[in-house]
Amino acid sequence: MKTLFTFMLLLPTMIWAQVAQPIKANIVLRDASFKARISSVELPYLISDTTFDGQFFKVVQGKNDEAISLTNEDEELVLRAATTYYHLNLARDWYVNKMKSTYVANLPKLVIRVDIKNQFNELGHYANDALDPQFNNALTIPAGEGLAGRGIKPWNMEIWFRPVKKVNIKDLKIKGDAMGEWGSVLASFRQQMHMSTLQRFLAQLVQSQTNPSPASQDFFGWENLIRVAGTSIMLEAVYQFADPLSRAFSRKWFWLDTALVPEIIYHEFSHVALSDHLVLSHSTAVIEGMADYFAGEIANSPNLATRIKTYNTFNGKKATRKQQYSVQFETTDYANSDFVFGMLWDLKTIVGDDSSPEFVYSLREKIDTNSSIRKQLIEGILKTCEEKCELPFVDKLKILQRYNARGI
Ligand SMILES: [Zn+2]
Repeated sequence: MKTLFTFMLLLPTMIWAQVAQPIKANIVLRDASFKARISSVELPYLISDTTFDGQFFKVVQGKNDEAISLTNEDEELVLRAATTYYHLNLARDWYVNKMKSTYVANLPKLVIRVDIKNQFNELGHYANDALDPQFNNALTIPAGEGLAGRGIKPWNMEIWFRPVKKVNIKDLKIKGDAMGEWGSVLASFRQQMHMSTLQRFLAQLVQSQTNPSPASQDFFGWENLIRVAGTSIMLEAVYQFADPLSRAFSRKWFWLDTALVPEIIYHEFSHVALSDHLVLSHSTAVIEGMADYFAGEIANSPNLATRIKTYNTFNGKKATRKQQYSVQFETTDYANSDFVFGMLWDLKTIVGDDSSPEFVYSLREKIDTNSSIRKQLIEGILKTCEEKCELPFVDKLKILQRYNARGI
C-alpha cells in the first residue's frame, strides 16, 4: 500500500519530466508601432533545456562549437543569442509555411556565431585572429570542404554576427556643425546621396579626409567598421525606430549590434533560404536587394511597409531624388541594392500585396547571383509575370512602363 501511495505521489512529477518545459527568454521584439522593445518570449524548437541548441539552429560564441548557455553570466551575450535564435526560427517558419520551401525545410541544422571577429576564409573557415578583425556587421558564409591535412573540418552555411565597436560620430570627421549627429548624417544621406548606400556614403565621407595615415586607418578600420548589412532604407527604418534598449544606434556614437536587429537577422537568413538559386559567392545588388525584400516581408509591419513605400529611391513619394537607372549599377557591388529593393517592392503595385512574396520567391529561380539588373533581372520579372500575373500581357506592359520611367 505504501509503495502504491508513493508511486501515485510521484506520477505527476514523472509526467512533467517527460514534457519539455517551455523555455522563455528576453529578446528584442518590435511592437505594433515597430519600436524595438525587450520582451520575454518562448523559444521554439529547443532540444536542450540548458543551452541555445535547437532543432534547426545552434547559437555559439565566436569560434566555439558548443551552444551558449541559457544562463551564461554575460547578459548581453544571452540577449544576442536569444534574439537571433528566436528571429531565425521565425524566418525559417515563414519560408517553410508561407513560401512552401522544401529547400528550407530540408536544410541541415545551421551554426550561428555571435561575437565573432574573424574574417571568413574560403579554405580555412576563419582567417587568422590578428587579421583585420570585424565589427558592427553580419554576414552569411557559404559551406566549405575544410582541409583535412590541417585539421580544418568541413562546415555548412553559417550566419555570423559581429561584436559591437563604438565610433564617435565626430571621429568620422563629417564637415559642418549641423552634421555632427548621427540623425543629421542620415538626413543628409537621404537628401544628397540617393545613388549609393549608407555604408558607401559614410566611406566617402571618411575618405574625403586628407589622406589619413596608414596607422590611423589601421586603428579605425573604417571600411570594415561601416560595412553593414542591408540597404540604406532598411537601415534608416531600423535607426528611426530603435529603442535605446536595443542600442542599435545613438546620436553621438555609431555602432550596430546586428544580432539585436530583427530585420538584419531576416536579411541574413534570407541569403540562406534563397541560396538554392542565389549562391553565396559574393555580394551583388541583386542578391542584397532580394534579401532586403524578404526581410521587409518577414517583418510584416505596416509601419515599415509605409516607410519603404514613401522613401525608397525607386518610386518613393518623399524620396528627394528618385533614382534613375545607371549602367554603373551593374558593376558596383553594394551601391545599388537600394534600386533593386525598390524595384522589387514596386511589384506590389502590379501583382498586389498578398501575391507579391510568392512572385518574388518564384523570381529567384529565373536569376542568379551574377544577374544584371537591366537584362536577367528584368527578363526574370517578365517571365515570372507570364506565369503568375492575372493579366500577363497588360501587366508586363505596366511593368515595362514603370522601368522606362526610371531610365531602364
Ligand atoms: Zn546581405
